[in-house]
Amino acid sequence: MSNGRDPTACRTTTAPGTDDRFPVPLRGVAVDAETRCLHWHDPPDVVALRFDCCDTYYPCVTCHAETTDHGTERLPSDRLHEPAVLCGVCRQTLTATAYLGCDDTCPHCGAAFNPGCHEHRDRYFAV
Ligand SMILES: [Zn+2]
Ligand SMILES: [Zn+2]
Ligand SMILES: [Zn+2]
Repeated sequence: MSNGRDPTACRTTTAPGTDDRFPVPLRGVAVDAETRCLHWHDPPDVVALRFDCCDTYYPCVTCHAETTDHGTERLPSDRLHEPAVLCGVCRQTLTATAYLGCDDTCPHCGAAFNPGCHEHRDRYFAV
């Protein structure tokens, strides 16, 4: 039943495993094929963010807490030019700088991102 292509299928992946549906290391709780998770699952919740502590992408900070046993480390401010955000729709990565300046729209595919994520950006990036 689970061939990995069902866009509605949700998968929970815990450390040290990663979800093989994505081109980058990614894990989380009940993650769907566009990186929505148990905690954030509205249509525009399609970004996953990379945490520096384990160099892995997560749909949200709660997913990190529930699938690992360590605290989060944010991407330091001198490395915001590194890929740090995955668009769950086109599965391209954005740098932190591109994400913070993208006006809540994917620069690759035009998908709308949840504007509320920007209000939490201090959880992810040391900006
Ligand atoms: Zn971590
Ligand atoms: Zn989550
Ligand atoms: Zn995209």
